[in-house]
Amino acid sequence: MPKSYTVTVDGIPVEVTHKWIRSFRLRVDKTGKAAASAPVGMPRREAERFLREHRNWLVARVMQAQRKKEILGNRKVEDGAVRMILGEKVVLRIVEDKKKKVVREGNTVLIMTPSADSADWEKQYDAYYLREAKALYSELVADYTALVEHQETDIPKVTVRRMTSRWGSCTPEKRTIRLNYYLYEAPVFCVEYVALHEVAHLVYPDHSARFYALIASIMPDYRDRKKLLERSVYIGE
Ligand SMILES: [Zn+2]
Repeated sequence: MPKSYTVTVDGIPVEVTHKWIRSFRLRVDKTGKAAASAPVGMPRREAERFLREHRNWLVARVMQAQRKKEILGNRKVEDGAVRMILGEKVVLRIVEDKKKKVVREGNTVLIMTPSADSADWEKQYDAYYLREAKALYSELVADYTALVEHQETDIPKVTVRRMTSRWGSCTPEKRTIRLNYYLYEAPVFCVEYVALHEVAHLVYPDHSARFYALIASIMPDYRDRKKLLERSVYIGE
């Protein structure tokens, strides 16, 4: 019988099985399930170290599979439905209550509601999600504007839009920045990159070397964040 055990990396369980192979292998299937094969005799410690080293890849692949499943499947708000918030899975719970309220407790989002209609739950969750997304986006844009333009006044106006082909956009002459609704599902270090990217367009409207040099001066690891974002979250058609 092959030896196998489960290692949890960033909340993702990975089933590790020992096999007669030469090198460690890690894969994520289309349902988002992760599994690894380790050479017979490789100590568990070493398998764990390998998984930690590949955690970015793992998180990205799992998120990608989950996003696809979610977009292709249903996004209905119902008890037990799973959503992503800043790269973390949250479970929605419908709780009967006299007053409408949405609260997050750890990885659970409680939708308190007097309604039995799922369309109302959807509206409540959406209002909550939008409010949270807008608060974070506004805070990041304000912070990066201060860094990029060396001023804390005249913060650009931030709007949240459901967009299918871009994470954000900036209209420098109007000082408005749009950030994608779905971006709030990505890890926060990706959200930070997009916010900084759009703020940097206030200075350089293009994607020139100067533009990226400005970003790099504030966020030296921006390439990693960009890469993870490109790989991890799937925007529908
Ligand atoms: Zn751009």
